[in-house]
Amino acid sequence: MAADRKLIRSGCNLRFFAYLCKLEYHSDLNQKMTNQKKIAILGSTGSIGAQTLEVIAQYPELFKATVLIAGTRVDTLIQQAIKFLPEWAIIADTSLYWKLRDALEPLGIKTAAGQDAINDSMNLDCFDTVVTATVGYSGLTPTLRAIKASKKIALANKETLVVAGDIVCKALEQSPSTMLPVDSEHSAIYQCLVGESPERVRRIIITASGGPFRKLTPQQIEEVTVRDALHHPNWQMGAKITIDSATMLNKAFEIIEARWLFNMRPDQIEPIVHPQSVVHSMVEFMDGAVKAQLGIPDMKLPIRYALGETFRLDAPEEHLDFDRYGTLTFEKPDEKKFPCITLAAHALTRGGNTACVINAANEIAVKAFLNEKIKFTQIYPLITETLAQIQFIASPTYDDYVACNAESRAKASEIAEKLSFNK
Ligand code: MG
Repeated sequence: MAADRKLIRSGCNLRFFAYLCKLEYHSDLNQKMTNQKKIAILGSTGSIGAQTLEVIAQYPELFKATVLIAGTRVDTLIQQAIKFLPEWAIIADTSLYWKLRDALEPLGIKTAAGQDAINDSMNLDCFDTVVTATVGYSGLTPTLRAIKASKKIALANKETLVVAGDIVCKALEQSPSTMLPVDSEHSAIYQCLVGESPERVRRIIITASGGPFRKLTPQQIEEVTVRDALHHPNWQMGAKITIDSATMLNKAFEIIEARWLFNMRPDQIEPIVHPQSVVHSMVEFMDGAVKAQLGIPDMKLPIRYALGETFRLDAPEEHLDFDRYGTLTFEKPDEKKFPCITLAAHALTRGGNTACVINAANEIAVKAFLNEKIKFTQIYPLITETLAQIQFIASPTYDDYVACNAESRAKASEIAEKLSFNK
């Protein structure tokens, strides 16, 4: 109790909570942001990247985009660079380098291309915070490099923690680097934990919209198309995460992400379906109190909270109108209809490289589904079949994860080929 009282007096006990989140709660922005914050965006042309640039444009006195990094959308990257005038613009696809260079070098913007250039850019001195908004496994290596370079991480790429949460956590422990979540659920949980003591948390409740197929019968889900799956009821997101939301594997990934981000036991993290997507997540404490964070479904809120490092910046967008959301409902996820959600418990109890295999197989499965090679209902068996065929490694090193990712993708591609005959 004495320790608790000391924490309450200090008024900044959040740093004792999640060892990843070493930032303290600030009520005064000037106290923490004496200089304009310089930001790198890993994946600037995707949905989160573009929304991060919108937030940066809203607060030019606070934020400056100094490094923009994209995968293949060179025209969008050029347009963004002309508008935001970063120091660097980098493209993963080396075949697009000349186009990028010719467009931007006359403006004094430095350019580079390739995965090595992206990884090396994490050491640049021209930024202090990186928003990791890239999709899938590709976020892991640059994020680890950014942690080693003592950068602040605004984590939108949940796969970084899904694939290799243990080594990412170890890297964070050994670095002054901090990590704040951009995922709306984890931002909500973080906001609920401010001012609380870690031992007094009973459980974390992660909300899920349930995706576009929540009300369909298993027979109807058998027949859904790519177009159906890409139509998310509440959130505007990139294609990969929209499919992950439809299978509910996104929620399994978010359970794994929460386990690492908040240092919780797996049995303390529960998903619940909340179709209105107004309650972004909740935390229950030992005394029975439940704290929730609510807001309209808009990713700019968690982006703003992460870039402001917990300071609440003004939001010019629409605010929550309770008249519009007359009823908020909650229900247990249907594991029979959405078996992918059970993969979280499997990954966390088995540990090792399990989640790395699941992620790799899913990336291949989603691509195969989007290309209409496999059916929606074949995504889950493709993942479990890959898991069955990849050797388990209890304590993988970084190199093991790299090899496991490559091997799992190759195996999943083989299985996808076979499944495509049975579509
Ligand atoms: Mg989310």
